Amino acid sequence: MDKLTSPKVIKEIIHKYGFRFNKNLGQNFLIDSNVLEKIIDAAEINEGTGVIEIGPGIGVLTQALAEKAGKVIAIEVDAHLIPILKETVGEYGNIKIIHDDALKINLKQIINSEFPNMNVKIAANLPYYITTPIIMELLEKRLNIDSIVVMIQKEVAERMVAEPGEKEYGALSVVVQYFTRPQLITTVPPHCFMPQPKVDSTVIKLNVRKQPAVAVASEEQFFKVVKAAFGQRRKTLVNALSNSTSFKMSKDEIKQILKKLNIQETQRGETLSIMQFAELANAIS
Ligand code: SAM
Repeated sequence: MDKLTSPKVIKEIIHKYGFRFNKNLGQNFLIDSNVLEKIIDAAEINEGTGVIEIGPGIGVLTQALAEKAGKVIAIEVDAHLIPILKETVGEYGNIKIIHDDALKINLKQIINSEFPNMNVKIAANLPYYITTPIIMELLEKRLNIDSIVVMIQKEVAERMVAEPGEKEYGALSVVVQYFTRPQLITTVPPHCFMPQPKVDSTVIKLNVRKQPAVAVASEEQFFKVVKAAFGQRRKTLVNALSNSTSFKMSKDEIKQILKKLNIQETQRGETLSIMQFAELANAIS
């Protein structure tokens, strides 16, 4: 098969199959072989690795993954791409294409049935409209995966790695850093795709932690506190938490807890570290 990063080859394929790009499905195909190489290097794949790819498109990343991995499961929602993938990656015995919606499919079951005794990794040039839900699904379900290497919108990647006090720091930063060690790999400009997206992209690697970054009595409570704190960003922590319907404590009780934890009454949620959020979640009710 010819190089799938070549715009000429892509044009021939889409012409042959009468394929039309579907904007609603975030279809921006990668046409830059350097970026492709960086994704593959970051993924650190070998024959003992099973990879799940979300949204293979015409198979550019799928092919490169299959060259190194023991097995690749590629989940594509667009029925028009399935016959194309049969042509572009059909000759690889270690690729299985699944026609389904990655947001609806049972990933846990796929991991258990397809990858016994393999290290499991996720790799994708994600359709941007599903970035947050798919990453939350992968992390919150505690799937048995080592790492996630994904191309996402640059702003979203910046939020994932942001530290307390930075303007990008928010609930997404806390949740991602609770479950993983995020690492920026490279920034990717629009001209690396066909068609070109309107925004810059970033390849990010999320190294899944064996244990979450901090110990909490109840994860549900921890996420409630984080959500309430950032739900009303302009408000002080005391006001954001006492306005929230998630907690029973009065404003004064919340003030006392903050004092005990050495958190100023006037502080906002965006100044708190993950450890402080954990302490707060363990103390509040
Ligand atoms: N991997 C290819 C590449 O790098 O050129 C295509 C990437 S393109 C940004 C995103 C792909 O995800 C498209 O092929 C699109 O049809 C597919 N897609 C969109 N929503 C999906 C979903 N919910 N489940 C699975 N695939 C999806």
